[in-house]
Amino acid sequence: MRAFEQFPRSGRPLMVKKFGGTSVADVERIRKVARLALESQRAGNDVVVVVSAMSGETNRLLGLAHQMLSRPDARELDVIAATGEQVSTALTSMAIQSEGGQSCSFLGHQLPLRTDSAFTRARIHQVEQERIRKALARGQIAVVAGFQGVDSDDNITTLGRGGSDTTAVALAAALGADVCEIYTDVEGVYTVDPRVCASGRKLKSIPYEEMLELASLGAKVLQVRSVEIAMKYEVPVHVRSTFSEEEGTWVVSREKTFESRVLAGLACERNQARVEISGIEHHPGRVAELMELLAQMNTSVDLLRHCREDVHASLAFTLAEEELLRARPSLEQLVERMGASRVHVSAGLAKVSLVGIGIRSDPWIAARVCRSLARHGIGVSDLAVNELRISGLVEGNHADEALRILHEAFLLAPTDAAEPSAAYAEGGLQ
Ligand code: ASP
Ligand code: MG
Repeated sequence: MRAFEQFPRSGRPLMVKKFGGTSVADVERIRKVARLALESQRAGNDVVVVVSAMSGETNRLLGLAHQMLSRPDARELDVIAATGEQVSTALTSMAIQSEGGQSCSFLGHQLPLRTDSAFTRARIHQVEQERIRKALARGQIAVVAGFQGVDSDDNITTLGRGGSDTTAVALAAALGADVCEIYTDVEGVYTVDPRVCASGRKLKSIPYEEMLELASLGAKVLQVRSVEIAMKYEVPVHVRSTFSEEEGTWVVSREKTFESRVLAGLACERNQARVEISGIEHHPGRVAELMELLAQMNTSVDLLRHCREDVHASLAFTLAEEELLRARPSLEQLVERMGASRVHVSAGLAKVSLVGIGIRSDPWIAARVCRSLARHGIGVSDLAVNELRISGLVEGNHADEALRILHEAFLLAPTDAAEPSAAYAEGGLQ
């Protein structure tokens, strides 16, 4: 993404405020959004509002498309999906005007917000800021449609589910905003989904890197790409609730976090499938072929392992069940070409991950993950440990319990410092 800085700043602080679907779910809530934006403007800020579609609307639109065709064309899907944000953007702008403010709405193609041509999962290349700057200079609140852009041929594109977060952060980066506020229906980023585990705690702040891991590993509060852009351009992001005044969670650089926490939280991705291909002829090109195939299909796999057994090799990886559905025909062809002796697919799994900077240096954390789960009879497989996370697969119906167990084992104490292994050593191997 290329950021522009051609326009002089007004001197007033600039806030980008993004409101998710539940925050614009009906006319009353949209009025509340308008009041929040106006309050901020009256306090002396320039304000850009980014909105999602009204809650449930994107699903409804995609549902209609799938009624028409079982596998609709991605270009046409984007044409229909982008209409959700067109409605909420216009309504939000009207709400601001009805409260006595001035505003102007902008759709992706009107800015334009340029993306590549990967329909339904496009990436932002460039954000033109001229029209927004002019609106702000006129004293207006700029209301921008989230989730949508246009490619170089002016085709409408969308940025993937949850993509309004990315619109907001990209705008904040391009405009050099002081803060990007993500207003949502939860109070911030939690150590674990509080709907699954009541003792989940809201974090005051979290470094970009850990937020990126949590988002990639299933925490839905921010779209992954939005965190990547925030990290690259050092945009301070404040995740907070539309429905309360409470301070939320700051997603900022490590130096700016105010907690010396070594473990950030737990994330869970459900509906995962594990594919194991064994008895492949051992040949360096084989894995490359498979990875190229998955990349061509824009499929991301995780927990990948490639093991050599004498002259043969085996390969196992995890991917979302719906990705498997998409990838299956091509995978089957490839597996046949590889001459594999056995392909085993298991579905209904959940990938549970513990994220934190402390994982880097503490080998006991992995041991404690396994032991804590084993004590409750939960088996974990395909364990992978890297600098910032430990992930493993559990049966889908064990996911919630696994999260509660791991939360209790690692994240319950409000200041966790570097204790996990110490506590484990004290308790001994029970
Ligand atoms: N409306 C889109 C979705 O439901 C984008 C967003 O809400 O961020 O995924
Ligand atoms: Mg969202």
